[in-house]
Amino acid sequence: MEKNRVLQTLKEYFGYDSFRPLQEKIINAAFEGKDNLVIMPTGGGKSICYQLPAILLPEITLVISPLIALMKDQVDGLTANGVPAAFLNSSQTENEQQEIFKKIDAKELKLLYVAPESLQFVDKFMSDGKVSLIAVDEAHCISSWGHDFRPAYTQLGYLKNRFPTTPMMALTATADKATRHDICRQLNIPNAEKHIASFDRKNLSLEVRPGIKRFEQISNFVKNRKKESGIIYCLSRKNTEELAEKLQRKGFEAEAYHAGLAADKRIQIQEDFINDRSKIICATIAFGMGIDKSNIRWVIHYNMPKNLEGYYQEIGRAGRDGLPSDTMLFHSYADVVQLQKFASNAKNEEVQLAKLDRMKQYAEALSCRRKILLSYFGELKQEDCGNCDICKNPPQFFDGTIIAQKALSCIFRLKESEPITVVIDVLRGSQNEAVFSKNYQQIKTFGIGKDISWHHWQQYIIQLINLGLLEIAFHRKNNLQLTSLARKVLFESEKVQLAEVPDRKKIKRPEVSEASEKTVDNSLFEKLRQLRLKIAREEEIPAYLIFNDATLKEMEKARPMTDDEFLQINGVGRQKMQDYGYDFIKEIIAFSKEKRTGKKNKKGDTYKTTLALLQQDLSLEEIAKERGLALTTIYSHLAKLYNDNEAVEPKKYISKADLKAVAKAKQELEQTEALKPYFDHFEEAIDYGVIRLALAVLEKEEAKT
Ligand code: ADP
Ligand code: ZN
Repeated sequence: MEKNRVLQTLKEYFGYDSFRPLQEKIINAAFEGKDNLVIMPTGGGKSICYQLPAILLPEITLVISPLIALMKDQVDGLTANGVPAAFLNSSQTENEQQEIFKKIDAKELKLLYVAPESLQFVDKFMSDGKVSLIAVDEAHCISSWGHDFRPAYTQLGYLKNRFPTTPMMALTATADKATRHDICRQLNIPNAEKHIASFDRKNLSLEVRPGIKRFEQISNFVKNRKKESGIIYCLSRKNTEELAEKLQRKGFEAEAYHAGLAADKRIQIQEDFINDRSKIICATIAFGMGIDKSNIRWVIHYNMPKNLEGYYQEIGRAGRDGLPSDTMLFHSYADVVQLQKFASNAKNEEVQLAKLDRMKQYAEALSCRRKILLSYFGELKQEDCGNCDICKNPPQFFDGTIIAQKALSCIFRLKESEPITVVIDVLRGSQNEAVFSKNYQQIKTFGIGKDISWHHWQQYIIQLINLGLLEIAFHRKNNLQLTSLARKVLFESEKVQLAEVPDRKKIKRPEVSEASEKTVDNSLFEKLRQLRLKIAREEEIPAYLIFNDATLKEMEKARPMTDDEFLQINGVGRQKMQDYGYDFIKEIIAFSKEKRTGKKNKKGDTYKTTLALLQQDLSLEEIAKERGLALTTIYSHLAKLYNDNEAVEPKKYISKADLKAVAKAKQELEQTEALKPYFDHFEEAIDYGVIRLALAVLEKEEAKT
């Protein structure tokens, strides 16, 4: 196929000017009639690899896909781009299916998505030569080596026999070598050309935090991300429900999702999430494979995943549109122990334990996490990534020999018969039942580590485990045991380097900048987002299928005001230009006018409006809702009104504790101008607006004295 024609098609139907790495090569191989195996991370851009050839090839393209929800989404997306497509699965009525068969006969379709269970129905309408391409999406489902085996997939091997001259394309995000091999074998495409993309997703920040006070950490995290969609993965169903409920009680739009819910309930939750009607999903790993939402801005792992494959796939659901997105993993020993138990009962125990071990090493890493992750997938990087917590806060090492000796000798005196918690209690000289019941207050090392906090001891001991000085005896109540290396430290004065335990206060959070808070209100991006949402509701399709966030961001920057300019935007193809161009251009022009003219006036009005509502005794939350503004904004209105000596009573809206905290911070930080240092100081626990208002109050009080 001619290169120009392919590029034209890419722009015309998908709105993109260039291919991502490998896409072009894969597409060409498909045109040459080769079988292909495509390995790309989630969000890497697999769909275009078969969708674009489908448009240009003479006959229909069959796409085998495991999930009904995903199919509908893909077909909606294609339709929005002006590509005739349909799907066939067991959820449809006889009539609906007949309609599709008619379309196939009339050659009206370019793509047909089929669930493996429904293949038999299409069979009679197809014969070799009448199918141009067969794509098998989520191809790892065919392999019991993979992590998501689906029995219905195993029958797909017959396709190659049935359509011997039709090229086949198998696509997956699973990098595991054994699985790859198995896919080709079972699909009968032993000579498939293999295309393996880089697994580096630079736009995803990586962070691991100790699993203490998880709920507090999470609610601080989501507080400043109210308009963003995110997923919290939990290990158990119960966990998902409890967490969702707690978040709801704090006023967040959170839902629980797990395989124990009724099918229609699950579908509804998915749809609400996809359509931005709910923002946070607390889910077991049952959630996500069918989700093709491009603007998931963050993923949290409440519990540690079983292996790095799962972890990578799950965090990969964030930021498919390529915009910066955050991921956070909580690491706790209780989780590790639990997973260890699960694994020990499994058939392939050894493999699972080894995979869990790699997961644990990642979580406990003291060097660039992305390097570790990518090396697991066979990609070796020279440079540190600069976008993980370790790169942002490299650990400082110090001579920890004495600390190590204290811990090791304590374990030695305890006859290696206690788990980490009791060891720390003894080191710190705790006066509790666990200690007294065994008379541990008598032993020589009791209380030799009083000067070090519980949390620090825990972190140091974890480091000693990672250094290979200690082992956890999982089969013996998780007791800590000394290794031969430990003896060298205890008896041969070998030195130990430990990493400083980061002071939690000083950890720099991924930037939730003041600017991003501001964009929430009246930026052009927000206007375009609202417009997109309105259209999405009218057309009953997910908002991101109209334009994804990256495309809206580009519109905000480039401000296209003519059809030609609009078509230049990455992500705008011909069909979408025709369908939505007018509305979006209108919005952009209106916005630009408004900015040029009545900006000042408008600002004045906005404060007055808030003042009027305050005088009606509405709460700030009510005002925010009424006005469709962020609560933070209302707080800053209040601060401004107060500064302008309007009759408002700011103290009504700040708790005494917050006011006191800000006063204290003001002294410590010795400054009054910027808000960000305060925000960081409180680890995001106090809202920007509250800080601003509190400072206004304090300044006035200072001026009085
Ligand atoms: P995958 O199926 O591999 O998880 P998708 O096919 O859903 O990934 O693509 C992820 C996102 O990347 C989508 O929003 C898609 O529109 C976008 N995308 C794909 N190819 C390109 C490209 N060449 N240029 C810009 N964006 C692209
Ligand atoms: Zn890094």
